[in-house]
Amino acid sequence: MATSLNGKTAAVIAHAQALFDDLTFTAAREWKAAAPGRKVVGYMPIYVPREIIHAANMLPLGIVGGGDQLEVIHGDAYYQSYICRIPRSTIELGLSGRLDFVDGMLFPSICDVIRNLSGMWKLMFPNVYSRYFDVPQNYRDDIGGSFYVNELADLRNDLAQIRGRPITDDELRHSIEVYNENRRLIRDLYAFRAERPWQAPAAEVYLVVRAGLVLPVEEHSAMLRDYLAAARAEERPMRDNCRIVLTGVFCEQPPLNLIKSLELSGCYVVDDDLLLITRWLTADVPAQGDPIKNLALAFLHHSESTAAKYEPNQKEKGQHLVRAVKRSAAEGVIFACPSFCDPALLERPMLQHVLKDAGIPYIAFKYAENSGQMQPIREQAGTFADSIKLWSGA
Ligand code: SF4
Repeated sequence: MATSLNGKTAAVIAHAQALFDDLTFTAAREWKAAAPGRKVVGYMPIYVPREIIHAANMLPLGIVGGGDQLEVIHGDAYYQSYICRIPRSTIELGLSGRLDFVDGMLFPSICDVIRNLSGMWKLMFPNVYSRYFDVPQNYRDDIGGSFYVNELADLRNDLAQIRGRPITDDELRHSIEVYNENRRLIRDLYAFRAERPWQAPAAEVYLVVRAGLVLPVEEHSAMLRDYLAAARAEERPMRDNCRIVLTGVFCEQPPLNLIKSLELSGCYVVDDDLLLITRWLTADVPAQGDPIKNLALAFLHHSESTAAKYEPNQKEKGQHLVRAVKRSAAEGVIFACPSFCDPALLERPMLQHVLKDAGIPYIAFKYAENSGQMQPIREQAGTFADSIKLWSGA
């Protein structure tokens, strides 16, 4: 991928690729070792308020499974075969010592699998702080909002105890500002790719965004700036690809080869729900006032829609996907869901229904993080791209 790139783009991508390949999390280990008392708190998909971890001077570390390079031996013994792979490879990461430097783990309330994993983590690693991080499914300020404010306050207190002193409001406000900037840069990157997808290939964008799971947020923002500048300056040919929105990939991540295969088969990815944590909040969180309340209100009123989030308004169900298609001028949608992923696969028929009504073409397939055979996916995506070109008369 990097051979024909200018030096700046190639350097950013090489750095991001090295972070992606490193299953022992060397960068996070080095960050922790660089000063006494530093702590690392891991989190799983989809969303945790990283601002609170950052405000405690800790490193939030995204753990999104083992990918296609990790051989899962112990993890398979903990779970039946008919569930997704991410909990098994995460257990493998833990039992093989790859996460032995992690001081805490947060398991967001996305599905039963991750909830159960939080309990298993407590049993397996009793000396590690483990928390099932619950988020509201009621979006009224006085109900779900009150619940969530308490949940955030509990997390703040827990982390304060681990570091040995309170987390101040000013520390939280500073962290909110730092993450606002990071989210703005990622929004810029997504907007740039939607406008000129040949200048920012999906696999590159993925690697650069994913680096944000393991780097301190300040370093990651610098990387995003570097990549945006380099990608804008890059001369790349525009291909006759169709433009698609990729959805369903919010938890267990597809292999990098799958993302590359989509583009090789003639599809430009112009929007996706990969690594949603990095842009879960869709607007800046106010940095003035009560920071915990501001984080809670941002979750209630300015957060992404996804299968793991309750949508009380039936008319609104799936409209986020229609809006994503229009916003990014996409011509179709590819549903790619992890095998056995209850939230994604239960949601998919409802979303397909909405797309059908809106006249938006789609295809669907499943994957696992270690899927190796890309030819069927290339064929399916290539045929989809061709048929869109045919229907549109281009
Ligand atoms: S891939 Fe789906 S089923 Fe598996 S842990 Fe993630 S959300 Fe749950």
